[in-house]
Amino acid sequence: MYLFKTVKSLQDHLNQCRLEGKKIGFAPTMGALHQGHISLIAASKEENEVTVCSIFVNPKQFNDASDFEKYPITTTPDIILLEAANCDVLFMPTVKEVYPDGMSTKLDINIGQLLEVMEGEFRPGHFDGMMEVVKRLLDIVQPNNLYMGQKDFQQFSIVHAMIKKLELPYQIVMCPIIREEDGLAMSSRNVRLSKELRAKASLIFKTISKIKEQMASQSPKSLEAFGMKALTKPDFKPEYVRIVDGETLLPIEDWDAAEFIVVCVATWLGEIRLIDNLVLKGNPSY
Ligand code: AMP
Repeated sequence: MYLFKTVKSLQDHLNQCRLEGKKIGFAPTMGALHQGHISLIAASKEENEVTVCSIFVNPKQFNDASDFEKYPITTTPDIILLEAANCDVLFMPTVKEVYPDGMSTKLDINIGQLLEVMEGEFRPGHFDGMMEVVKRLLDIVQPNNLYMGQKDFQQFSIVHAMIKKLELPYQIVMCPIIREEDGLAMSSRNVRLSKELRAKASLIFKTISKIKEQMASQSPKSLEAFGMKALTKPDFKPEYVRIVDGETLLPIEDWDAAEFIVVCVATWLGEIRLIDNLVLKGNPSY
C-alpha cells in the first residue's frame, strides 16, 4: 500500500493510474478503523482498479471540542487493517494540506432541509464542516466512485445532494451498515464505551428493530414515541427517534406517504453519542 501525506504526491500517483486507464474508488474516513470502514474498501476493490482510503480527523466538523480531542487515533492498527484489506493507497494529510488557506471558509450550497433536520438540529455546524471536507477531498482525489456508509444516513443524503447540486462527476455508492454480533452498529466511538455501557448499547438496534416489527399495527408518530420511551433508560439520553421519508428526510404522517422510509436514532449512552438507522420500507432511488 502506498502512503501519501501531501496532495502533490497523491495526485502525481493518481494521475499516473489514470493514464494507465485505471478506475479510482475512494473511501474517506476519520480513522480508528473497523470492519464497517473495511466494507467500504472491499466494495471499492470490486469496482475499481485503485482504491484510496483517506484518514483525516476533520477539526471543522466537530461542534464539540472535547469530542474532537477524545476522537480515537489508532494509526498503526489502521494501517495493518488496510494492508490486510489490500487497500492500494492511504492518504493521511495534515490540516494544512486540506485547508491551505485556513479554516474560516464556508461552502455555501443550498440543499435545503437536509442540513437542518435531525443531526442538523442537535449538532449545529457539523454538516457544514463535513460537506466542506468531503468537497475538498473529492477535489483532491477526483475518484470515479465514492463509497460512504448508510451508518451515517443523513451524511450520505447530504453528500449525494451536494454531488447532484454541483454536478460533480462522481458516482456515490451507499454501503450497508456493518454491525457487531449483538446488533450495535460499528463505530469508532464504540471503543470509548465502558464494558458496562457497551453491554447496554444493543438496546438501540433492538429498539429500531421493534419499530420495524410493529409497522403494520402502529402509525409512524406512535412508533417514534415508542422508540423515545424504549430508549429512556438509565445511562441513555435519546435525542431523537425519527421516521422519515428517506429522500427528503422529512417526517411522514403515514406509511403510504413515501416509497422509501427510514427510522433514524441519536442517543447519548453515558458520555458517548451514538447514531443508528434502519430502512423500514423500500429502497433509495440512487
Ligand atoms: P467515519 O470514520 O466515522 O467518518 O466513517 C467513514 C465512513 O465509514 C463513512 O462513510 C461511514 O458512514 C462509514 N461507516 C462507519 N461505520 C460504518 C458501519 N458500521 N458500517 C458501514 N459503514 C460505516
